[in-house]
Amino acid sequence: MPNPLKAYLWLYFNTMDDKSKCPRCSNNAFEAINEKPVNSNYELIFVRCTSCKTVVGVVDYYNVGTLVKKLATQLKIDLDK
Ligand SMILES: [Zn+2]
Repeated sequence: MPNPLKAYLWLYFNTMDDKSKCPRCSNNAFEAINEKPVNSNYELIFVRCTSCKTVVGVVDYYNVGTLVKKLATQLKIDLDK
């Protein structure tokens, strides 16, 4: 007969892990890969699982926040005002 306390502790400790997990294989390591999708004029950054290569997110190749800050600096605009 299974020990209910052991089952509770197993469930407790196995749900305490707050790292991101791959929805396909539960791996918790990810990588960012630059790729240009078919029929696209721009490269994108795909965030994918290092193990099964399932894509879990896509972001612009250029970081828009960094570009805005560079532009503001060149135009001498204080973004904090
Ligand atoms: Zn995976």
